[in-house]
Amino acid sequence: MKSNQFKMQDPRYQYQMSHTEKDDDQPDPGLDDILKPNADHGEDSYVGSGRLEGRKALITGGDSGIGRAVAIAFAREGADVVFNYLASEETDANETLDILQASGVNAIGIAGDISDEGFFQTLVSQTVERLGSIDILVNNAGKQQFVADIDDLTTEQFCQTYATNVFGMFWITKASVKHMPPGASIINTTSIQSYQPSAGLLDYASTKGAITSFTKSLAKMLVDKGIRVNGVAPGPIWTPLQQSGGQPAEKLSSFGQNVPLGRPGQPAELAPVYVYLASQESSYVTAEIMGVTGGHHLP
Ligand code: NAD
Ligand code: MG
Repeated sequence: MKSNQFKMQDPRYQYQMSHTEKDDDQPDPGLDDILKPNADHGEDSYVGSGRLEGRKALITGGDSGIGRAVAIAFAREGADVVFNYLASEETDANETLDILQASGVNAIGIAGDISDEGFFQTLVSQTVERLGSIDILVNNAGKQQFVADIDDLTTEQFCQTYATNVFGMFWITKASVKHMPPGASIINTTSIQSYQPSAGLLDYASTKGAITSFTKSLAKMLVDKGIRVNGVAPGPIWTPLQQSGGQPAEKLSSFGQNVPLGRPGQPAELAPVYVYLASQESSYVTAEIMGVTGGHHLP
């Protein structure tokens, strides 16, 4: 299920997916390795043009899904990349690493749990040690578990979703800013859920609301340092997050069909907007959230 990024085509039919395979749910955190049908991260299609030559990027959740597509695009645009992942995702991380290294850039994977306050210093200091600075920070790691009834939503899950999606982003950002020169860019992955929250994603949707506000506030705070801060709000994208409890299993086969374009997006369709926000081409863009939603636009 691959598509040429430059070929003009009808976006409704750009990706054909087998709906029967979509029901195969898997444990959290999900693995791209066993995601059925496969997702497109631009492995066979993304062509760079030196837009991030020599930049140093740190990406959380870079082993799979949107983060992997962003890591591939950044590397092919000439950036050195450190990406973070959970230890249980080693298979995906190794595959991503192989693809990045084939671009000829410096690429490193660092395993660790960003919901643990003890970890962020290690992640940021090892990144700076290996790359020298951080020119691009992509806060992309996220936890999403669907729970239909508030009675079944535990304090443990609520706290873990916030610790991963919000606190981890705060800790990593705070530690990274001191290593970011003027011209640097921070990009946070928020969601359409920040604007159109679903029942069943109470904890997740509210963390995405927090990320959207955090992004806009941080953008104003960091203007004086010459650092731009923006967010990307994806709609329904075919990644392991959705097949590992992000959606109830019975909804997977129709996942993404309710957006105007009538299909889920692929991680590869997200990468170009991250490249734009990371590069100097977006020099006049800060405090912005860019939607890639299949037509369920942002307000
Ligand atoms: P994904 O499962 O491929 O990526 C999420 C990553 O988060 C995982 O690979 C994992 O490495 C990381 N992660 C989770 N908990 C972690 C922890 N405690 N410590 C370190 N890393 C942790 O799925 P994805 O859909 O590509 O998700 C990427 C981002 O996109 C997330 O922030 C998600 O909320 C957001 N998003 C996804 C969709 C969608 O439909 N897939 C829609 C809107 C927003
Ligand atoms: Mg993963």
